[in-house]
Amino acid sequence: MIRFEQVTKRYADGTTAVDELSFEVAEGELVTLVGPSGCGKTTTMKMVNRLVEPTSGRILLGGEDIAAVDPVRLRRTIGYVIQQVGLFPHRTVLDNTATVPALLGWKKARARERAAELLDLVGLDPGTYGHRYPEQLSGGQRQRVGVARALAADPPVLLMDEPFGAVDPVVRERLQSEFLKLQATVRKTVLLVTHDLEEAIRLGDRIAVYGQGRIEQFDTPATVLGAPATPYVADFVGADRGLKRLAVTPVTEADLEDPAPGRSSGSSGTTTGTAPGRSSGAATGKTLGTAPGEAPAVPLGASLKDALAVLLQHDAGRVAVHAPGEPGRVLGSLTTAGVHRALRRTAAAEVSSR
Ligand code: ADP
Ligand code: MG
Repeated sequence: MIRFEQVTKRYADGTTAVDELSFEVAEGELVTLVGPSGCGKTTTMKMVNRLVEPTSGRILLGGEDIAAVDPVRLRRTIGYVIQQVGLFPHRTVLDNTATVPALLGWKKARARERAAELLDLVGLDPGTYGHRYPEQLSGGQRQRVGVARALAADPPVLLMDEPFGAVDPVVRERLQSEFLKLQATVRKTVLLVTHDLEEAIRLGDRIAVYGQGRIEQFDTPATVLGAPATPYVADFVGADRGLKRLAVTPVTEADLEDPAPGRSSGSSGTTTGTAPGRSSGAATGKTLGTAPGEAPAVPLGASLKDALAVLLQHDAGRVAVHAPGEPGRVLGSLTTAGVHRALRRTAAAEVSSR
């Protein structure tokens, strides 16, 4: 969907902001660009909507060289969210959100209807907030309006430059998880810039780790953490990467012990008992309830981090792992030894696949 081919940007003063950058973002993929300040992330992003022109190289959007597309038309097909949000102070929240549809010539009523829909989608009641002005909102609410505005014309591509950078950590986490839910429904092709590794890991399908003006590694969060491509990346992801990897490594059947009886390898397990009336709050450890005192459970595919958290909250020393969406079908159990094995397995697989 977005393709960089040996793109270099040298500013007039001789600064090489990015050097021979090549990468591709698939349709519906969320790629985070992460790295220290000044490494060229914003420059990369601004070249996609032609706020900055490359010195050399090409950028293709849906197969089309953007150099040949009128910049104004181009920008209307690309949502753009920036840290400072850039809402118009003298326009209401509703009108701010309807900016792009209005520019695209939609009828006023239709543009407003769409804006109200989008405000609702980002968790702002249009009846309550639509007629306020930006200064009458909290920082987090302004960020949401920024996201709603960027999505209003339903652009296939979304560029987000430190979108959650200006809010406090608690609000940031909430905005991140809301954004992930939103992305699961709208499935935009997203480039998101951040200097925060945790945010990059949490949000990205893949991460581009920037060094000075170049990408040091472009891969899934698990691989970046588990098998850093260069000493620079290893240093950047830090010594606690083993812990961070827990969050991005899922529990698989290979990690389990005493699988359910009658289970043939790789195929479906045996129903070992149903648990009527049980809630499905996966990975909280409260999904259990066939009998008091029974071991806690998580679904297959839960992160090792969630599984470990459940494991540590209970005395059983093991956590039952059930089929996703089928709490009654236990596939086996996970112990701390299984967690270790899983981490070793994924690290080894990642190293040998390089
Ligand atoms: P990041 O977003 O990763 O912090 P930027 O892309 O903003 O980095 O900047 C990359 C480099 O390019 C930095 O050295 C920065 O000072 C320089 N730079 C950015 N914009 C300009 C500009 N308009 N003119 C000259 N140098 C610039
Ligand atoms: Mg920047």
